[in-house]
Amino acid sequence: MNKKANIILTHNCNLRCKHCYLDAKPCKEKIDDNYEKTIEIIDKLKIKDFREIMFTGGECMIFPKLEDLIKYAKSKGFVVSIFTNGMVYDEKIFNLVDIVHISIDGSEQIHNDIRQNSNSFANIIKVLDYLKKIDKYTIIQMTINNKNYDDIDFLINLTLDHLNIRTVKFAFTTSSGRAVENDIYSDKCMIEYINNKIPELFNKTKYHIQFLTNLFNKYDFENYCLTGLSGFPFWIDIPENKYYLLNSEISKIHNLNDLNLEIIETESATFLKKLNDNREKIERNENIDIEFELINLLGGK
Ligand code: SF4
Repeated sequence: MNKKANIILTHNCNLRCKHCYLDAKPCKEKIDDNYEKTIEIIDKLKIKDFREIMFTGGECMIFPKLEDLIKYAKSKGFVVSIFTNGMVYDEKIFNLVDIVHISIDGSEQIHNDIRQNSNSFANIIKVLDYLKKIDKYTIIQMTINNKNYDDIDFLINLTLDHLNIRTVKFAFTTSSGRAVENDIYSDKCMIEYINNKIPELFNKTKYHIQFLTNLFNKYDFENYCLTGLSGFPFWIDIPENKYYLLNSEISKIHNLNDLNLEIIETESATFLKKLNDNREKIERNENIDIEFELINLLGGK
Protein backbone atom coordinates (compact mmCIF):
# COMPACT_ATOMS: atom_id res chain seq x y z
CA MET A 1 0.00 0.00 0.00
CA ASN A 2 1.25 3.42 -0.92
CA LYS A 3 1.76 5.41 2.26
CA LYS A 4 2.30 8.83 0.73
CA ALA A 5 -0.49 11.23 -0.21
CA ASN A 6 -0.11 14.35 -2.36
CA ILE A 7 -2.72 16.91 -1.38
CA ILE A 8 -3.69 19.66 -3.85
CA LEU A 9 -4.85 22.49 -1.58
CA THR A 10 -5.82 24.95 -4.29
CA HIS A 11 -5.59 25.51 -8.05
CA ASN A 12 -4.91 29.20 -7.42
CA CYS A 13 -1.38 30.26 -8.25
CA ASN A 14 0.76 33.40 -8.15
CA LEU A 15 2.23 32.47 -11.54
CA ARG A 16 0.72 31.70 -14.91
CA CYS A 17 3.28 29.40 -16.47
CA LYS A 18 3.09 28.61 -20.15
CA HIS A 19 3.22 24.85 -19.54
CA CYS A 20 0.78 24.56 -16.62
CA TYR A 21 -1.25 21.37 -17.00
CA LEU A 22 -3.75 22.58 -14.37
CA ASP A 23 -4.33 25.95 -16.05
CA ALA A 24 -3.66 27.39 -12.57
CA LYS A 25 -3.96 31.17 -12.13
CA PRO A 26 -4.70 33.75 -9.44
CA CYS A 27 -8.22 33.50 -7.98
CA LYS A 28 -9.20 30.52 -10.07
CA GLU A 29 -11.44 29.29 -7.30
CA LYS A 30 -12.74 30.03 -3.80
CA ILE A 31 -10.84 28.20 -1.10
CA ASP A 32 -12.88 29.03 2.01
CA ASP A 33 -13.71 25.43 2.96
CA ASN A 34 -10.47 23.79 1.95
CA TYR A 35 -8.82 24.04 5.37
CA GLU A 36 -11.47 22.05 7.26
CA LYS A 37 -11.73 19.52 4.46
CA THR A 38 -7.96 18.98 4.54
CA ILE A 39 -7.94 18.48 8.33
CA GLU A 40 -10.57 15.76 7.93
CA ILE A 41 -8.49 14.09 5.22
CA ILE A 42 -5.34 14.17 7.36
CA ASP A 43 -7.25 12.42 10.16
CA LYS A 44 -8.43 9.72 7.75
CA LEU A 45 -4.91 9.20 6.39
CA LYS A 46 -3.61 8.85 9.94
CA ILE A 47 -6.13 6.13 10.76
CA LYS A 48 -4.97 4.22 7.68
CA ASP A 49 -1.35 4.50 8.73
CA PHE A 50 -0.14 6.86 6.00
CA ARG A 51 3.33 8.23 6.73
CA GLU A 52 3.95 11.11 4.32
CA ILE A 53 1.99 14.08 3.06
CA MET A 54 3.02 16.53 0.37
CA PHE A 55 1.05 19.78 0.12
CA THR A 56 0.90 21.10 -3.42
CA GLY A 57 -1.27 23.18 -5.78
CA GLY A 58 -1.54 25.44 -7.77
CA GLU A 59 0.80 27.13 -5.34
CA CYS A 60 0.43 25.83 -1.80
CA MET A 61 2.45 28.72 -0.29
CA ILE A 62 -0.41 31.14 -1.02
CA PHE A 63 -2.87 28.94 0.87
CA PRO A 64 -3.88 31.06 3.90
CA LYS A 65 -3.57 28.42 6.63
CA LEU A 66 -0.69 26.37 5.24
CA GLU A 67 1.34 26.80 8.42
CA ASP A 68 -1.52 25.44 10.57
CA LEU A 69 -1.97 22.47 8.24
CA ILE A 70 1.73 21.62 8.35
CA LYS A 71 1.74 21.87 12.16
CA TYR A 72 -1.35 19.70 12.37
CA ALA A 73 0.07 17.02 10.06
CA LYS A 74 3.37 17.03 11.94
CA SER A 75 1.56 16.74 15.30
CA LYS A 76 0.03 13.53 13.91
CA GLY A 77 3.48 12.18 13.09
CA PHE A 78 3.54 12.68 9.31
CA VAL A 79 6.66 13.48 7.31
CA VAL A 80 5.54 16.70 5.61
CA SER A 81 6.77 18.26 2.40
CA ILE A 82 5.65 21.13 0.20
CA PHE A 83 5.89 21.58 -3.55
CA THR A 84 6.45 25.23 -4.41
CA ASN A 85 7.35 27.49 -7.33
CA GLY A 86 9.62 29.57 -5.04
CA MET A 87 7.74 32.86 -5.42
CA VAL A 88 6.90 33.16 -1.71
CA TYR A 89 9.77 33.50 0.75
CA ASP A 90 8.64 32.33 4.19
CA GLU A 91 11.36 31.13 6.56
CA LYS A 92 8.81 29.85 9.09
CA ILE A 93 7.35 27.41 6.57
CA PHE A 94 10.76 26.31 5.29
CA ASN A 95 11.90 25.59 8.85
CA LEU A 96 8.74 23.69 9.67
CA VAL A 97 8.57 21.18 6.81
CA ASP A 98 10.80 18.13 6.42
CA ILE A 99 11.34 18.40 2.66
CA VAL A 100 10.97 21.20 0.11
CA HIS A 101 10.27 20.39 -3.55
CA ILE A 102 10.92 23.36 -5.78
CA SER A 103 10.33 23.66 -9.52
CA ILE A 104 12.93 25.21 -11.86
CA ASP A 105 12.62 25.17 -15.63
CA GLY A 106 16.12 26.14 -16.76
CA SER A 107 18.60 28.98 -16.52
CA GLU A 108 17.32 32.46 -15.75
CA GLN A 109 16.08 33.63 -19.14
CA ILE A 110 14.43 30.35 -20.09
CA HIS A 111 12.88 29.86 -16.68
CA ASN A 112 11.46 33.40 -16.53
CA ASP A 113 10.09 33.08 -20.06
CA ILE A 114 8.27 29.82 -19.30
CA ARG A 115 7.07 31.21 -15.97
CA GLN A 116 6.04 34.52 -17.58
CA ASN A 117 7.59 36.42 -14.68
CA SER A 118 10.89 38.32 -14.74
CA ASN A 119 11.56 37.85 -10.98
CA SER A 120 10.80 34.18 -10.78
CA PHE A 121 14.34 32.81 -11.10
CA ALA A 122 15.80 35.37 -8.67
CA ASN A 123 13.12 34.45 -6.12
CA ILE A 124 14.01 30.77 -6.38
CA ILE A 125 17.69 31.49 -5.79
CA LYS A 126 16.79 33.45 -2.66
CA VAL A 127 14.74 30.49 -1.39
CA LEU A 128 17.47 27.99 -2.31
CA ASP A 129 20.10 30.04 -0.50
CA TYR A 130 18.00 30.01 2.66
CA LEU A 131 17.33 26.26 2.36
CA LYS A 132 21.08 25.77 2.03
CA LYS A 133 21.66 27.87 5.15
CA ILE A 134 19.34 25.66 7.22
CA ASP A 135 20.48 22.48 5.40
CA LYS A 136 16.93 21.57 4.45
CA TYR A 137 16.42 18.43 2.38
CA THR A 138 15.55 19.87 -1.03
CA ILE A 139 14.31 18.31 -4.25
CA ILE A 140 14.43 20.22 -7.54
CA GLN A 141 12.00 19.38 -10.30
CA MET A 142 12.52 20.49 -13.89
CA THR A 143 9.70 19.94 -16.36
CA ILE A 144 11.37 19.00 -19.62
CA ASN A 145 10.00 20.39 -22.88
CA ASN A 146 10.94 21.83 -26.27
CA LYS A 147 11.93 25.17 -24.67
CA ASN A 148 14.43 23.85 -22.15
CA TYR A 149 15.54 20.24 -22.73
CA ASP A 150 19.10 21.19 -23.71
CA ASP A 151 19.48 23.65 -20.84
CA ILE A 152 20.10 21.35 -17.90
CA ASP A 153 23.82 21.85 -17.32
CA PHE A 154 23.17 24.91 -15.20
CA LEU A 155 21.41 22.61 -12.73
CA ILE A 156 24.69 20.91 -12.02
CA ASN A 157 26.35 24.10 -10.88
CA LEU A 158 23.31 24.94 -8.84
CA THR A 159 23.39 21.58 -7.06
CA LEU A 160 27.15 21.77 -6.53
CA ASP A 161 26.64 25.14 -4.94
CA HIS A 162 23.69 23.93 -2.80
CA LEU A 163 24.61 20.61 -1.28
CA ASN A 164 21.26 20.43 0.52
CA ILE A 165 19.73 19.58 -2.89
CA ARG A 166 19.63 15.79 -2.72
CA THR A 167 17.40 14.92 -5.67
CA VAL A 168 16.80 16.36 -9.12
CA LYS A 169 13.71 15.13 -10.87
CA PHE A 170 13.18 15.55 -14.62
CA ALA A 171 9.48 15.33 -15.35
CA PHE A 172 8.08 15.39 -18.87
CA THR A 173 5.49 17.95 -19.92
CA THR A 174 1.88 16.80 -19.75
CA SER A 175 -0.14 17.63 -22.86
CA SER A 176 -3.01 19.41 -21.19
CA GLY A 177 -3.95 22.84 -19.83
CA ARG A 178 -1.86 25.78 -21.11
CA ALA A 179 0.96 23.54 -22.43
CA VAL A 180 -1.24 22.75 -25.44
CA GLU A 181 -2.20 26.33 -26.29
CA ASN A 182 1.46 27.44 -25.94
CA ASP A 183 2.79 24.55 -28.04
CA ILE A 184 4.98 23.23 -25.21
CA TYR A 185 5.61 19.51 -25.25
CA SER A 186 8.09 16.68 -24.62
CA ASP A 187 8.87 14.20 -27.36
CA LYS A 188 10.86 10.99 -27.67
CA CYS A 189 14.01 12.74 -28.76
CA MET A 190 14.01 15.01 -25.66
CA ILE A 191 13.35 12.04 -23.41
CA GLU A 192 16.30 10.22 -24.97
CA TYR A 193 18.51 13.28 -24.64
CA ILE A 194 17.82 13.53 -20.90
CA ASN A 195 18.24 9.85 -20.37
CA ASN A 196 21.60 9.77 -22.14
CA LYS A 197 22.72 12.78 -20.15
CA ILE A 198 22.10 11.26 -16.72
CA PRO A 199 25.36 9.24 -16.42
CA GLU A 200 27.30 12.45 -17.13
CA LEU A 201 25.29 14.28 -14.45
CA PHE A 202 26.01 11.54 -11.92
CA ASN A 203 29.68 11.83 -12.70
CA LYS A 204 29.77 15.57 -12.31
CA THR A 205 27.92 15.54 -9.00
CA LYS A 206 30.03 12.64 -7.69
CA TYR A 207 26.88 10.63 -7.08
CA HIS A 208 25.67 12.73 -4.14
CA ILE A 209 22.55 13.68 -6.11
CA GLN A 210 19.83 11.28 -7.03
CA PHE A 211 18.55 11.96 -10.57
CA LEU A 212 15.03 10.78 -11.33
CA THR A 213 12.83 10.87 -14.41
CA ASN A 214 9.45 9.41 -15.28
CA LEU A 215 11.47 6.61 -16.85
CA PHE A 216 12.75 3.41 -15.35
CA ASN A 217 15.28 1.21 -17.08
CA LYS A 218 14.13 -2.37 -17.56
CA TYR A 219 16.14 -3.61 -14.58
CA ASP A 220 14.62 -1.01 -12.22
CA PHE A 221 11.25 -1.94 -13.61
CA GLU A 222 11.66 -5.57 -12.64
CA ASN A 223 13.45 -5.13 -9.34
CA TYR A 224 11.79 -2.05 -8.03
CA CYS A 225 8.33 -1.57 -9.52
CA LEU A 226 7.03 -5.08 -9.77
CA THR A 227 8.09 -6.02 -6.27
CA GLY A 228 5.79 -3.25 -5.01
CA LEU A 229 8.70 -1.27 -3.56
CA SER A 230 7.69 1.74 -5.61
CA GLY A 231 4.29 3.01 -4.54
CA PHE A 232 2.14 4.79 -7.09
CA PRO A 233 1.51 8.39 -6.07
CA PHE A 234 -1.93 8.97 -4.62
CA TRP A 235 -3.51 12.38 -5.31
CA ILE A 236 -6.18 14.18 -3.33
CA ASP A 237 -7.63 17.24 -5.06
CA ILE A 238 -9.35 19.21 -2.28
CA PRO A 239 -10.92 22.01 -4.43
CA GLU A 240 -12.31 19.56 -6.99
CA ASN A 241 -13.37 17.15 -4.26
CA LYS A 242 -11.82 14.13 -5.92
CA TYR A 243 -9.02 11.62 -5.52
CA TYR A 244 -7.14 9.28 -7.81
CA LEU A 245 -4.05 7.15 -8.10
CA LEU A 246 -0.96 8.12 -10.12
CA ASN A 247 -2.59 10.29 -12.75
CA SER A 248 -6.17 11.38 -13.42
CA GLU A 249 -5.93 10.16 -17.04
CA ILE A 250 -5.22 6.60 -16.00
CA SER A 251 -7.02 6.15 -12.74
CA LYS A 252 -10.71 6.20 -12.02
CA ILE A 253 -11.60 9.48 -10.39
CA HIS A 254 -13.35 9.07 -7.04
CA ASN A 255 -15.47 11.46 -5.01
CA LEU A 256 -13.69 12.75 -1.91
CA ASN A 257 -16.91 12.63 0.11
CA ASP A 258 -16.63 8.84 -0.06
CA LEU A 259 -12.90 8.57 0.58
CA ASN A 260 -12.17 4.88 0.65
CA LEU A 261 -8.51 4.06 0.91
CA GLU A 262 -9.18 0.41 0.14
CA ILE A 263 -10.11 1.53 -3.40
CA ILE A 264 -6.62 2.98 -3.77
CA GLU A 265 -5.11 -0.24 -2.50
CA THR A 266 -7.19 -2.31 -4.95
CA GLU A 267 -6.39 -0.02 -7.87
CA SER A 268 -2.70 -0.11 -7.00
CA ALA A 269 -2.81 -3.91 -7.07
CA THR A 270 -4.65 -3.81 -10.45
CA PHE A 271 -2.00 -1.51 -11.93
CA LEU A 272 0.81 -3.73 -10.69
CA LYS A 273 -0.91 -6.85 -12.03
CA LYS A 274 -1.35 -5.22 -15.47
CA LEU A 275 2.32 -4.32 -15.55
CA ASN A 276 3.32 -7.78 -14.37
CA ASP A 277 1.09 -9.51 -16.95
CA ASN A 278 2.73 -7.48 -19.70
CA ARG A 279 6.23 -7.60 -18.34
CA GLU A 280 7.84 -9.21 -21.38
CA LYS A 281 6.29 -6.78 -23.84
CA ILE A 282 7.12 -3.75 -21.70
CA GLU A 283 10.68 -4.87 -21.06
CA ARG A 284 11.49 -4.86 -24.76
CA ASN A 285 11.98 -1.11 -24.31
CA GLU A 286 15.23 -0.07 -22.72
CA ASN A 287 13.48 2.72 -20.81
CA ILE A 288 10.03 2.33 -19.41
CA ASP A 289 7.62 5.16 -18.73
CA ILE A 290 5.20 3.62 -16.26
CA GLU A 291 2.45 6.20 -16.80
CA PHE A 292 2.66 5.83 -20.58
CA GLU A 293 2.60 2.02 -20.34
CA LEU A 294 -0.42 2.10 -18.08
CA ILE A 295 -2.29 4.52 -20.36
CA ASN A 296 -1.71 2.06 -23.20
CA LEU A 297 -2.65 -0.99 -21.16
CA LEU A 298 -5.71 0.45 -19.49
CA GLY A 299 -6.83 2.54 -22.41
CA GLY A 300 -7.06 5.77 -20.43
CA LYS A 301 -10.18 6.68 -18.52
S1 SF4 B 1 3.00 25.21 -13.35
FE1 SF4 B 1 2.91 25.38 -11.11
S2 SF4 B 1 3.72 27.42 -10.70
FE2 SF4 B 1 3.17 27.40 -12.84
S3 SF4 B 1 1.05 28.19 -12.96
FE3 SF4 B 1 0.94 25.95 -12.82
S4 SF4 B 1 0.72 25.54 -10.66
FE4 SF4 B 1 1.49 27.63 -10.83
